[in-house]
Amino acid sequence: SRVLVTGSTGFIGAHVVDNLLARGYSVRGSTRSAKKGEQMKAARPQYADKLEFVVIEDFTKIGVFDDSVMDGIDAVIHVASPFFYDTTNNEQELIIPAINGVKSILSASAKPGSKVQRMVLTSSFASVVDVNTTPPPGFTYTAADWNPLTYEVAADPKSTSVEAYRGSKKYAELAAWDFVKNEKPQFDLVTLCPPMVFGPVAHPVPDIKSMNESNSVLWSVADGVDPLPGARVPAWIDARDLAEVHVQALLKPEAGGKRFLAASPEPFSYEYAADIMKEKFDWAKDSVTSNYVAGQKPSASYGVDGQTAARELGVTYRSFQDTVVDFVKQVKETIL
Ligand code: NDP
Repeated sequence: SRVLVTGSTGFIGAHVVDNLLARGYSVRGSTRSAKKGEQMKAARPQYADKLEFVVIEDFTKIGVFDDSVMDGIDAVIHVASPFFYDTTNNEQELIIPAINGVKSILSASAKPGSKVQRMVLTSSFASVVDVNTTPPPGFTYTAADWNPLTYEVAADPKSTSVEAYRGSKKYAELAAWDFVKNEKPQFDLVTLCPPMVFGPVAHPVPDIKSMNESNSVLWSVADGVDPLPGARVPAWIDARDLAEVHVQALLKPEAGGKRFLAASPEPFSYEYAADIMKEKFDWAKDSVTSNYVAGQKPSASYGVDGQTAARELGVTYRSFQDTVVDFVKQVKETIL
């Protein structure tokens, strides 16, 4: 079987690629950058005959996945979507590419002759959480919840890039569910909604400035940022666990047509990350700020149901401590 993974040279995508390769699948990764594809391939010589990359254009244009990209593909894991906050035009750089990427990959996968049986889409907890409402005590978000954010507010030039990013994920995921409902393609859809994703990287990261968005914030703690960042959401998942969630979502027949929250049940905070770094790395005792209340377990004002995904997809979640330690060690030893 051959799986197409988009965003394959990004943080989450590269872990998905590695998980599939380790299981014996052939992988075609798409990327805008031939160079990053070559670097990924060069770092995996043992999979030379199982791993290939195709260059696709920017998603801002629709129809970028042509027949040659889809040739021989049995399943698609669509990870790619713009995830950065340093924008000049939110709608052009975040929202439109996210939606058009979904529309392009879905219509290419539904063309006559396509053998695609399943599409797994990386959505986000951003398309679930309502950041403007304080939930009642004891509230737990589930995969049935949708962020009430409107397109107009997300795309408003006065909105922040964070708000626009949330809209990009919500409206891209909605476009996927609408496509499946209206076009009734031969494949089924599974969407995954992870909150903050952290962990060691498997993709090419030439220097710390090139680190992906979510890990950059975690690294800033090790690097001495002061004050510590506030966590926008108290929930997270390790990238390696999330890759397993993606692959199980592809393999389990009964996952078809479902939406999953993929999140560790353990809440996190950057204060807790700072505590872990100071405890586990001597050098961090000096570099990590002391300008916070140490020694407090993170608390969350709501729960996030990651257990349904764990049970139905058969995955377990790493501890926040293991994720932080593995990531910080890797950056210190191989990227700095
Ligand atoms: P990265 O930035 O590392 O990866 C994003 C990938 O998307 C890149 O490989 C890039 O491909 C591709 N991409 C971005 N913009 C475009 C575009 N305009 N046209 C074509 N391709 C594009 O981020 P992550 O791996 O962290 O994110 C992957 C997915 O996971 C995204 O959908 C994101 O929304 C989602 N997500 C991430 C979370 C996190 O905390 N990291 C949390 C929840 C969801 P290229 O190789 O061409 O550069």
